[in-house]
Amino acid sequence: MQATTQLIHSIPVDPLTGAISVPIYQTSTFVQEAPGVNKGYDYARSGNPTRATLENLIAQLEGGHTGIAFGSGLAAIDAILKLLQTGDEIIAVDDIYGGAFRLFEQVYKKFGINVHYVDTTDPEAVFNALTPNTRLIWIETPTNPTLKITDIQAIARIAGRHRCLLCVDNTFASPALQQPLSLGADLVIHSGTKYLGGHSDLIAGLVVTKEKELGDRIKFLQNASGGILGPFDSWLLIRGIETLHLRIRQHGASAYAIAAFLQDHPAVDKVFYPGLPTHPGHDIAARQAKGFGGIVSFTLHDNTEEAAKNFVTSTGLFKLAESLGGIKSLISHPATMTHKSIPAEKRKAAGVADSLIRLSTGLEDTEDLLDDLRQALDKVKVPRPVGRAAVPVGTAAQPVGHALIPG
Ligand SMILES: *Cc1c(COP(=O)(O)O)cnc(C)c1O
Repeated sequence: MQATTQLIHSIPVDPLTGAISVPIYQTSTFVQEAPGVNKGYDYARSGNPTRATLENLIAQLEGGHTGIAFGSGLAAIDAILKLLQTGDEIIAVDDIYGGAFRLFEQVYKKFGINVHYVDTTDPEAVFNALTPNTRLIWIETPTNPTLKITDIQAIARIAGRHRCLLCVDNTFASPALQQPLSLGADLVIHSGTKYLGGHSDLIAGLVVTKEKELGDRIKFLQNASGGILGPFDSWLLIRGIETLHLRIRQHGASAYAIAAFLQDHPAVDKVFYPGLPTHPGHDIAARQAKGFGGIVSFTLHDNTEEAAKNFVTSTGLFKLAESLGGIKSLISHPATMTHKSIPAEKRKAAGVADSLIRLSTGLEDTEDLLDDLRQALDKVKVPRPVGRAAVPVGTAAQPVGHALIPG
């Protein structure tokens, strides 16, 4: 059976009433027949049937043992960090999500947990950063917002030999495209807020572990700390995931067309999209994922923050907002929005230029999105071609976006 069919039919019909949609169990407690004798639930922080359906669904989608649903992506990350002790070290991708960086540096550092940021696209750099105290390797692939690609299998081998955990933030790819646990990762986290929810109407986080034992430890931490997802948001997230494969296919097709268009536009300098054969991570992305996702970043030749800010307020369909992965296309300026909590020099070292613009392609018609970008680019100053490196033309061989998901 194909993944889409399996996904849709793995969501159980309610055995009590036959309801085809998952019931929302809006309850805090569950009546017991005798002390400790219950129907599998006692108090809704510890477990809720609507949440449990979501947790089983994401575990199945990622090919893991245990799924755990949190109140936000950051709450999910926070729970994983609580596996660590004072003195432990983390190796993390340098182009890390800004909120994760803030949590590492402004919350966990004071408890004596230190993070080394390295370019994880180079497995040797990861290997060289290992110390006897390294307990966790943290990667995102593709990264936000420069879409760098890390070879999950190569890093998993390093983590395995060093007996430290590998956690992959799979938010950008989603399990429709990439299943890190099958490539050797121990844990996957998601901001369910993005592609899994898919409609920009909820905040949620998910953890999936490959093994039961690690899942039990994180479930314990969740119950002890309390960062659960409520029943209504669990239901909304299930409802979003039901159309994940369909949505991801369209996001990817539009993103590919937009990346190819931008690459040939005279006002555009660099385009970051792993689906372009010119992207340095293209081959690895093509090998480890079924598609390249819906995010495209680029810089203008007018390499100033001002030009980027003018551009992000010139689009009509692309709405200026943080976040990504919803049905409406979004545009953002990472340096002053999502990545402002990362110090300027660290940001630049990771490739987040002040002029970088990030697009999250929504589910509008591809041609309308291209028209919107075209009219906004018409307002941008185009440099004279003298002394400018030629823009590679004709490298966009075929619209791989359409054939993203074989199954
Ligand atoms: C948004 C995001 C997060 C944080 O998730 P929230 O749901 O906003 O807490 C973590 N990682 C990545 C890659 C994200 O895009």
